[in-house]
Amino acid sequence: MAEPKLKKPLSSHRWVLGYLMREKAVFLPSLAALFLTAVLSLAFPWFLKELIGNPADALRNGVDPAQVVEKSNRIVLMLVGVLAVQSIIAFFRVQGFIRSGEAALNHLRRDIFAHLVQLPVRFFQEQRSGALSNRVSADLGIVRDTLLNAVPQAVRHGVILIGGLIFIFVASWKLSLIMLGSVPIVVLAIAFFGRKVRGHSREAQDALAEAGTVIEETTQSIADVKAFGNEHFEARRYDRALATFLQVTARGARHRAAFLAFIIFALFGTIAFVTWFGARMYAQGEIDWRNFAAFILFSIFVGASLGSFPEIISQFQQTAGATDRLREILDTPTERTSGAEDVLLQGSLAFKRVNFHYASRPEAPVLRDVDFQVEPGQRIALVGPSGAGKSTVFSLILGFHHPESGRITFDDVHAAEISLPCLRAQMAIVPQEVILFGGTILENIEYGNPGASREDIARIAEMANAHDFISRLPDGYDTIVGPRGTKLSGGQRQRIAIARAILANPRILLLDEATSALDSESERQVNEALERLMHGRTSLVIAHRLSTVRHADNILVFNHGKIVETGTHEELLARDGTYKLLVETQLM
Ligand code: ADP
Repeated sequence: MAEPKLKKPLSSHRWVLGYLMREKAVFLPSLAALFLTAVLSLAFPWFLKELIGNPADALRNGVDPAQVVEKSNRIVLMLVGVLAVQSIIAFFRVQGFIRSGEAALNHLRRDIFAHLVQLPVRFFQEQRSGALSNRVSADLGIVRDTLLNAVPQAVRHGVILIGGLIFIFVASWKLSLIMLGSVPIVVLAIAFFGRKVRGHSREAQDALAEAGTVIEETTQSIADVKAFGNEHFEARRYDRALATFLQVTARGARHRAAFLAFIIFALFGTIAFVTWFGARMYAQGEIDWRNFAAFILFSIFVGASLGSFPEIISQFQQTAGATDRLREILDTPTERTSGAEDVLLQGSLAFKRVNFHYASRPEAPVLRDVDFQVEPGQRIALVGPSGAGKSTVFSLILGFHHPESGRITFDDVHAAEISLPCLRAQMAIVPQEVILFGGTILENIEYGNPGASREDIARIAEMANAHDFISRLPDGYDTIVGPRGTKLSGGQRQRIAIARAILANPRILLLDEATSALDSESERQVNEALERLMHGRTSLVIAHRLSTVRHADNILVFNHGKIVETGTHEELLARDGTYKLLVETQLM
């Protein structure tokens, strides 16, 4: 995948914040609670300092030991009280953060999916199957980590850092300046290692997405994988993807580890050095015992907070990358949304000198000057060798792609003037290889017209010659068809697809005839169902059977993207051209 152009991280984070703000009724109180608990956590070192300082002062001033104990008790009680308050707030704050974070993520997930399904078919054809969904879920995972972990951590440690710094400056500005001297070194290290780690993490994400794609491709075509005995081949392919991931991760881990080692040394080294220096100041009477204790305790807190920032920053940087990619999807233009919504098609259709090539292969024209006219109710057969452009004609009719030049018209209206949903609502397609959704038979038929009643569906299944076989299944219409419908035979799947199309009640029917032979009984049933489906509708059939072309009102013979002959079966046979050759060699 090409390196995505980096937008300003701030704009990415503002964008994510926009999603959080949709849940501001929960998010803002949680944020306030987080702020409060972070401030309260500074009470801990403060009370500890009091506890440590108290006997030391008392001893020096010769105070009664009983008084010392009594004061210590008071301090501890207050500390316990603060801790209790902090815990109660934390209990609500954590829930609030998770709830608002997950809800904000759901808005984001919903937006992305809603946008994805609106994108043109071309967008999906240009992606490897699986790569897109893996990418999106990986990116959403990163955003999720940030919302649920990094944001609360950043606020918490930010407050502790700033609050702690104020306390140590009050305790001893001299010691504070010495300690802060080490900060620029740490910041430089963060910048240096952070950049390295971020680069690796993007590479690692890509490698992992690649591995996910292998799983998806393999499981989707598991029958082919097995038929070709390629299980080991696929396992090796997966191994290779994993090995790449490991390599990249290992390289990233070196930088991470080096950074962590450096931080440990710098952080604790600095604290040790400052303590040593403080001890000298104490010996020379430049600092009192209580402030010295305060300084050490707050320094440890500040140090721990400072030490957690590299992780937080790298998480934010990863998020910037992830949101850039998600926003790229959201910024990809959707299908055309213009056009009339309420056009009732009569069923006539024409291609006028249509030229077309796929965007991915501009050098290969797929349709050349394609010109034909279909009257309402007519039955048109498209024939020609494989790769001649027949399916592409269907894609253009469905508005998946658009002609480069020439026009497609419906009832003499330019296709571009009718909205895509309006057009598609009046068409149905029965594909060559019927792939059903994983749900029940009922749901699969209902897909033709969501909301249809059970009775309507049964009636239509009857027309599609599907009712009998469905009724014989143990669960009838509620039978789960298995992934992609694999539990049903080819002929059964076809009849379900036909029922779906009848239920959709289209004006224009696009039928890609199956090439695989069915047994004669199945074939008779499917043909009968198709006859009922085509009756009274404009039908375009990519034909592979002689019986279909014989009954067609007109046959369009395609070759290399051109219509080379048109006419009825008899006319074309008499002509002694491409069609006759196709019929004789049964190459249809
Ligand atoms: P047919 O249906 O007649 O077998 P198609 O319409 O499927 O032919 O294909 C016509 C030509 O377009 C073929 O050369 C095919 O390789 C090419 N083609 C089909 N789909 C795409 C696509 N999504 N991207 C690029 N080329 C494609």
